[in-house]
Amino acid sequence: VPELPEVETVRLGLNKATCGISMMEAEVLLARTVAYPSVEQFQQGLQGTMVTTWMRRGKYLLAQLGRSPHKSHPPSKSDHTAGWLGVHLRMTGQLLWLTNAEPLSKHTRVRLRFEDGQELRFNDQRTFGQMWWVPPNQDPAEIISGLGRLGPEPLSAEFSPAYLGKVCENRDRPIKTALLDQTLIAGLGNIYVDESLFFGGIHPTRPCRSLTLTEVKSLHSGIQTVIQKALTEGGTTFSDFRQVTGTNGNYGGVAWVYRRGGEPCRNCQQPIQKMRMAGRSCHFCPVCQPL
Ligand SMILES: [Zn+2]
Repeated sequence: VPELPEVETVRLGLNKATCGISMMEAEVLLARTVAYPSVEQFQQGLQGTMVTTWMRRGKYLLAQLGRSPHKSHPPSKSDHTAGWLGVHLRMTGQLLWLTNAEPLSKHTRVRLRFEDGQELRFNDQRTFGQMWWVPPNQDPAEIISGLGRLGPEPLSAEFSPAYLGKVCENRDRPIKTALLDQTLIAGLGNIYVDESLFFGGIHPTRPCRSLTLTEVKSLHSGIQTVIQKALTEGGTTFSDFRQVTGTNGNYGGVAWVYRRGGEPCRNCQQPIQKMRMAGRSCHFCPVCQPL
């Protein structure tokens, strides 16, 4: 399941590949992939536009769309006079940049064909992925479900140790489930929460309010370290995630606890433990992350 670093890697690839080229046609093979507006409006809205820049917020991708009558005068990077294209990959969504001639997968849901003979293809096996076309007179945060309620980005100034402390105080729920809550902090999923808790030395089932000020600071630093490192390395190999170029990232080689149940802790040699928590797998070191 792609998390913030994987989605950011996809964004960088999309920015390199797709900007400034006219979109000739949007073809929708699975209607429910289009969350807004209707399939027909989605297709009409995208036709003849060009991406001026791709942005990311949490795990959402957002393309600003402009319109240019002349190839020699592409619209500016801030142009969104043709609205926005929103994408959420959810569990198994993949964006691939291919030539039109490339054979379709049985999981192909949407094809965005560009005038240079290339296309942006959305493949999604589990079909939870979503796409939105937001018309230029509307606010993406109001149209795209969940986007307007996102908490701060983990590497932003707003996500300070004081903010994390505020999140923790007066909350009884386990720290792991709080960190997975996109309204409290944007972009973390199972992989980076397990890794962050290890770096912070915090047991995943600890009630939020039980964390001391020192532990909050340590966890904050753990989150930023893990995300920064994953961004540098271009995402993970843990899941079906693929970069827009179709190649995997390489965070997988350096996981400290994620999917290492039974293997020795890289810090203390004790076996990493695996448990279920709120329907998800959870990996931690019982010594480095004491209860
Ligand atoms: Zn350990």
